[in-house]
Amino acid sequence: MIKLDSKIPEGPLSQKWTRYKASVKLVNPANKKKLDIIVVGSGLSGAGASSALGELGYSVKTFCYQDSPRRAHSVAAQGGINAAKNYQNDGDSIYRLFYDMIKGGDYRAREANVYRAAEVSNFVIDHFTALGVPFARDYGGSLDTRSFGGVQVSRTFYAKGQTGQQCLLGCYSSLNRQIRKGNVVMYPRREMLDLVVIGGKARGIITRNLITGEIERHSAHAVVLATGGYGTIYYLSTLAVNSNASAAWKAHRKGAFFANPSFIQIHPTCVPQLNQFQSKLTLMSESLRNDGRIWVPKQKGDKRAANSIPEEERDYFLERRYPAFGNLVPRDVASRAVKERCDAGYGIGETGLAVNLDFRDSMKKQGKKAIENKYGNLFEMYKTITGINPYEEPMRIYPAGHYTMGGLWVDYDLMTSIPGLYAIGESNFSDHGANRLGASSLMQAAADGYFILPNTISNYLADEIRVPKIATDSAEFVETEKAVYERLNKLISIKGKQSASSFHKRLGKIMWDYCGMVRNENGLKKALTMINELKEEFWKDLNVPGAINELNMELEKAGRVADYFELAGLLVTDALNRTESCGAHFREEFQTPDGEALRNDDKFAYVAAWEYAGEGMPHILNKEELMFEEVEMKVRSYK
Ligand SMILES: Cc1cc2nc3c(=O)[nH]c(=O)nc-3n(C[C@H](O)[C@H](O)[C@H](O)COP(=O)(O)OP(=O)(O)OC[C@H]3O[C@@H](n4cnc5c(N)ncnc54)[C@H](O)[C@@H]3O)c2cc1C
Repeated sequence: MIKLDSKIPEGPLSQKWTRYKASVKLVNPANKKKLDIIVVGSGLSGAGASSALGELGYSVKTFCYQDSPRRAHSVAAQGGINAAKNYQNDGDSIYRLFYDMIKGGDYRAREANVYRAAEVSNFVIDHFTALGVPFARDYGGSLDTRSFGGVQVSRTFYAKGQTGQQCLLGCYSSLNRQIRKGNVVMYPRREMLDLVVIGGKARGIITRNLITGEIERHSAHAVVLATGGYGTIYYLSTLAVNSNASAAWKAHRKGAFFANPSFIQIHPTCVPQLNQFQSKLTLMSESLRNDGRIWVPKQKGDKRAANSIPEEERDYFLERRYPAFGNLVPRDVASRAVKERCDAGYGIGETGLAVNLDFRDSMKKQGKKAIENKYGNLFEMYKTITGINPYEEPMRIYPAGHYTMGGLWVDYDLMTSIPGLYAIGESNFSDHGANRLGASSLMQAAADGYFILPNTISNYLADEIRVPKIATDSAEFVETEKAVYERLNKLISIKGKQSASSFHKRLGKIMWDYCGMVRNENGLKKALTMINELKEEFWKDLNVPGAINELNMELEKAGRVADYFELAGLLVTDALNRTESCGAHFREEFQTPDGEALRNDDKFAYVAAWEYAGEGMPHILNKEELMFEEVEMKVRSYK
């Protein structure tokens, strides 16, 4: 086992980042121009990083697979973005945001990184406001806030239910400014298919032009992955259907450790699956739980229309079980409570796999207009999908795969275990431990991109100033490109009968059934066998029509699904290894008498950083022990 060095700076928690910035190595402006940085991804983290690095004077190349950077998945974020501004004077502070995140993540995140994220959150809001993001404002003109799960203050800034879209447009405009100035060169419709490592350092990537099919080599002094999360491993999830883990997985195979892959958030409030032909599920933002009340009938199997069930026959089960936080308990807690009620036979609708999210009381109190002002676009979206008018009837909701706390392991500098390779935003194992609190992802992604990476990357690049432009004709580039071709050829030559999507759907079902909201040893072992069998079938019976050197979306999908088979194996292995429950990782064998997660801090207060050991070899587990100096590890209670 390698001893992982998280490079946490010395000194008191609240001083670490300030001291770090004061002592970090710098690169002078003349040298910055000579240094190339590749950024893969154009969501809040990638576009933020590209803009900030461009502004600093580095020579940046930014890649995304969409036709425009502003279509990155961040555009879908709905409910809001956190910051410890304390505009409401309700007792918020940087420390409280830090504490809520550590507790919310069930004490499985690194203190120093989380504190820094909380500290930087206030700059993020100021920056977005300066970029023109139209955050909601209160009567007096100040920025308005609302609450999200797992907290008792109101610290979430929002732009109706389109916060991600508005923030991404802000990032996109700052990115465009740098593109126009020539500091950033944008490469849309490119997919990174492998990482090039030279002399142990990340030096470039191999991409496929998704329009022409051409394979390209790109070099740089450092590579930044901002490639998002892997929630689509469940096939049905709230993510954009094209979100995938391939860039991170390729980096993993080249030496970047993958941390806590089994920490995946299942979001409690999504539109339930309506049929077998769906390729995606839709989120109904957590912000709705500010005003919507979750309930099921008190009587098992009650199939009456929701509005005809009288008040005394309704079970507001979150308010009943968790009086202190009520409907705003964190997502892992809410999802399991919803599942528990449905499994016990109280679920509503034909399938019984749904519960009510009801706005009747808040509309009575605040009026329909107030609710429309806060959530209008979400209500419209719900009505379009289901045909039900949520102003008149409660929404029906059920949990779905949503966010991945796991990802590439990074140190305090956000550098992976490959020197010169960084991971930011959702692609790293991040600051959220075993469960992310709502609205803290946009915060972390923007903080990583705009404020943290631009400071930390100079620590590495300061020693690279004498390295000339990296040539792309070296043996490493040639070999990596060859391996990319071979793999594409292998996928396209199988000429079987089944599509990549059909395999993805079956893989997703295995993951959902055995490694979703609840897990147990037998199920996980069964899942491992099933994944391996399906993987074998994939490599024998996959059908990819068309050719490599043309637009070929089936080929794109096939590559991503092939990587998912490998990640799925590691994810289940990680879930098997962690014989405790914590946050979203709920092992049925480890629960309190009243069904809450039972941690084992003596054995598992560590980050599991998995190392790739070669084709067909078992992964090696490296542990980063978590030290809690500021916060005492307690049983997480929202009661
Ligand atoms: C429906 C929904 C609603 C959400 N609402 C909220 C919210 O209200 N508040 C909140 O804090 N969080 C929210 N989240 C989470 C949040 O949106 C994401 O965690 C965050 O936007 C991730 O940003 P990112 O920059 O890390 O990655 P993304 O925005 O996912 O961007 C990934 C980028 O990487 C590129 N990319 C990936 N792989 C490759 C490759 N191989 N080659 C080239 N390019 C590649 C893509 O093209 C894209 O540009 C929500 C998530 C979902 C699914």
